[in-house]
Amino acid sequence: MIELTGVSKRYGDTHAVQDVSLTAETANTTVLIGPSGSGKSTVLRLMIGLTQPDTGHIAVDGQRLRSVPLHSIRHRMGYVIQEGGLFPHLTGRANASLLARHLGWSADRIDARLDELTELVQLSSTRLTQYPSELSGGQRQRVSLMRALMLDPDVLLLDEPLGALDPMIRTDLQEDLRDIFRRLNKTVVFVTHDIGEAAFFGDQVVLLRRGQVVQTGPMSKLLKDPASSFVTEFIQAQRAPLKQLEAEE
Ligand code: ADP
Repeated sequence: MIELTGVSKRYGDTHAVQDVSLTAETANTTVLIGPSGSGKSTVLRLMIGLTQPDTGHIAVDGQRLRSVPLHSIRHRMGYVIQEGGLFPHLTGRANASLLARHLGWSADRIDARLDELTELVQLSSTRLTQYPSELSGGQRQRVSLMRALMLDPDVLLLDEPLGALDPMIRTDLQEDLRDIFRRLNKTVVFVTHDIGEAAFFGDQVVLLRRGQVVQTGPMSKLLKDPASSFVTEFIQAQRAPLKQLEAEE
């Protein structure tokens, strides 16, 4: 479980995150959604300790982030970003096993784990001999997910992991990812600005605006019982193209 209590973070005059309190429950998927610049990525970066809050505190399974060595927290959290963040000069295999090698795992142990993970993320193991530039966007994200899962972390943080993919590949990977989250029973925090994706993944959705939480709850609650007119506007805005089509029919 990850808990943010009264967390604020400023960059110069920009209040990236303002007095945010939220809980990402164990074995659940929490989706952070909101317009561009609403603070979603900053919340994720705060959770993994890549940036420090100005005020408030963050606890992972009851341990305050500042009171434990950051590397121990990071080993318990896998992190996937939009473009995958793979090192271009390393093969898929070297990318996925980077942390394990750093921790001194034997080659046999690494191979066994990579075998498990290729099966889990449904990637042919021959792809692991290739460099990121030789892989498709979807394959790259599968390798990124393997890297994030290598140490079997309790927590997975994903920052628009499907944002750069074309729609068909995106749908495939959405389904595979949801299946993986369910099978592994991990605590997942998933950032997206896509309302359909939020509904698809989120046990709980946290809608952010200008660094503040507007509403938290299952997507059905945001739809049926919006906390403010902004909630409805945000949801409606993304349905607009479909509505227009419906109106034309
Ligand atoms: P989102 O992920 O919702 O698009 P971000 O968390 O990336 O939003 O950003 C929230 C706000 O904080 C934005 O106004 C952004 O420009 C600002 N911001 C984020 N990171 C930095 C940074 N490292 N330096 C300066 N401003 C930043």
